[in-house]
Amino acid sequence: MATRVRPSSKRCAVIGGSGFLGRHLVEKLVDRGYTVSVFDIRQSYELPGVTFHQGDLCDKQALLLAMKDVSLVFHCASPAPASDDRRLFERVNIEGTRTVIQACNEAGVQKLVLTSSASVVFEGTDVKNGGEDLPYAKKPIDYYTQTKIQQEKSRTFLGLSFVSQLVLEAFDEGKGLLTVAIRPHGIFGPRDPQLVPILVDSARKGKMRFIIGDGTNVVDFTYVENVVHGHILAAERLRPGSPICGKPYHITNDEPVRFWDFMSEVLVGLGYAAPRYHLPYAVVYGLALLLWLLALILRPLVSFKPTFTPMRVALAGTHHYYSCERAKRDLGYKPLVSLKEGIARTVQSYPHLRRGA
Ligand code: NAD
Repeated sequence: MATRVRPSSKRCAVIGGSGFLGRHLVEKLVDRGYTVSVFDIRQSYELPGVTFHQGDLCDKQALLLAMKDVSLVFHCASPAPASDDRRLFERVNIEGTRTVIQACNEAGVQKLVLTSSASVVFEGTDVKNGGEDLPYAKKPIDYYTQTKIQQEKSRTFLGLSFVSQLVLEAFDEGKGLLTVAIRPHGIFGPRDPQLVPILVDSARKGKMRFIIGDGTNVVDFTYVENVVHGHILAAERLRPGSPICGKPYHITNDEPVRFWDFMSEVLVGLGYAAPRYHLPYAVVYGLALLLWLLALILRPLVSFKPTFTPMRVALAGTHHYYSCERAKRDLGYKPLVSLKEGIARTVQSYPHLRRGA
């Protein structure tokens, strides 16, 4: 009787491995002795020991090539949150994730770690020290969040029946797919194409003089290496019978900070002035809502996309910080890099964005 050769536990695939988080994750995995296949619609770098597979994650055959002899898959691909292309989010985050799961099952992958987001419980109103048991947002703030919720909770991923069935299968026959979801919040660090570049662009255009609200709202910003650490801990603790199977985990810096203090520290570190003038939250939110509605109504006639959206206002003007106690207890998670050190490393990594550069 032919025996099936088990893939090596040190062979993994990173879907979305060309992105900001994905690349940091790939680099750390290589450091830790993993052999890595990257699967992404684009290739943004080269690294010895890493094989690149270019393709769309909705294409199962292409995924299967990247998953050959792989026992562990990280899925951290997603369209950028700023897009308002609903169909794209549904296709990539929901249908694509379903395809990833099918491919994992066909390829004999044992573990799947999904990068979800803490925003799956955020509705644009305050969340203070939120735990993983908070209900999913009933009114998600955008298509990104709406599809991240479905990606995580639907039968395709953490749905109980799906998970328990597969966990039992794994126990009985030594095969089956174990799943866990990591929910980071506000990832920052070197090479991030979003947070710092957008902040500096706004500062250069004179748009960073204002603070939305009274400036006391507290949020989580999480240094990218800590997010990577959480992913690897989860992957290495994911075993049949482990309490982490089928569960989501918040990964934060465990140092909630005032949103506007964080922004000011990054701006001042790069030579720009910190925001100073306060604008009432309700007025700014109302204006953003009006603009968004206008864009929606006028869409058949003129295409304009406001960058100043209700979602951005809510993110900048409310409390939203999360507890990572469950990750500490179950994963042995502890942030490796403090917020202060993370900000210093980030600022240093963007010399071309300094004032006057
Ligand atoms: P990113 O845009 O830098 O990386 C995403 C990668 O996915 C890109 O390389 C992109 O090419 C790839 N991708 C997109 N569509 C694809 C498709 N159809 N097929 C294959 N690859 C595709 O984003 P990031 O900031 O590194 O985010 C990584 C993950 O972390 C995402 O799942 C995101 O939802 C989650 N997340 C990010 C943050 C944050 O603050 N950046 C916070 C919480 C959660």
